[in-house]
Amino acid sequence: MTSDASAAVNSQLRLHILASGSKGNACVVQSANTKILIDCGISYRELTRRAAVLNVDLSDIAATVVTHEHSDHTAGLSVWCKHFTGPMLATKGTAGARKHLAVLPFKAIDRNADFEIGDIRVRCFPTSHDVVDPIGFRFEAHGDALGYCTDSGVLTQPALELLHNVRILALEANHDPRMLAHSSYPLFLQERIGGAQGHLSNEQACTALTTLVTKKTEYVIAMHLSQENNRPGLAVKTLSQAVGATPQNDMGTRAATADKFLSIVCAAQDAPMTIE
Ligand SMILES: [Zn+2]
Ligand SMILES: [Zn+2]
Repeated sequence: MTSDASAAVNSQLRLHILASGSKGNACVVQSANTKILIDCGISYRELTRRAAVLNVDLSDIAATVVTHEHSDHTAGLSVWCKHFTGPMLATKGTAGARKHLAVLPFKAIDRNADFEIGDIRVRCFPTSHDVVDPIGFRFEAHGDALGYCTDSGVLTQPALELLHNVRILALEANHDPRMLAHSSYPLFLQERIGGAQGHLSNEQACTALTTLVTKKTEYVIAMHLSQENNRPGLAVKTLSQAVGATPQNDMGTRAATADKFLSIVCAAQDAPMTIE
């Protein structure tokens, strides 16, 4: 852990994780008066059902941002669009990559775009994935910061810079390399997932945490876990090594530092949760 951050606690941002994993992704970032939807890879029915579970009103979502074109991030966008009148933001590459996306009213942003939606500043960075122009985000509001990065085989330099020193860090921990190597997946798929344009492993996420986490960091959320090649307890155990956290429950799916300031938790495919 580095110690160059202010230890001031300023909890302005929340992350509502509605779905995370290869079967669908959707999250809402919320500040005092603004909400932004990140990706919509689940059906409208599931999106609204899960939002209701977390008491999140989707009627005032101010903008929708899309990380990349894979269907686990975009499958629900067409129907979402019928209920949503705000701006839909994606890179030109993402917006043009698939037929069902090309017909949607996207406003193009560049991979290093930096803009404001209500009281949230959105700072984009390139991720490394086998698609056209994928991105991740740093959200800032009133001194608080939240980093969001999934679907990236490695962390790009801008990602490392923008994910540093956030209070809430939502970072992909997709697979355990040993489980992947012994999985039933064909070799080409193992190589794709484990490659530089695939997905971050538990180990890669752990290494990244040693530089990303600061005194300001209260939550690390392991995102986009593979259901075949990872286990929540294993992801949390591996990430814990970076910050000296110890298990907080029998399953080891939650860990915390000795002073309880920093918690490590796992996002789930089908169990919505709010981090605040
Ligand atoms: Zn994905
Ligand atoms: Zn993807």
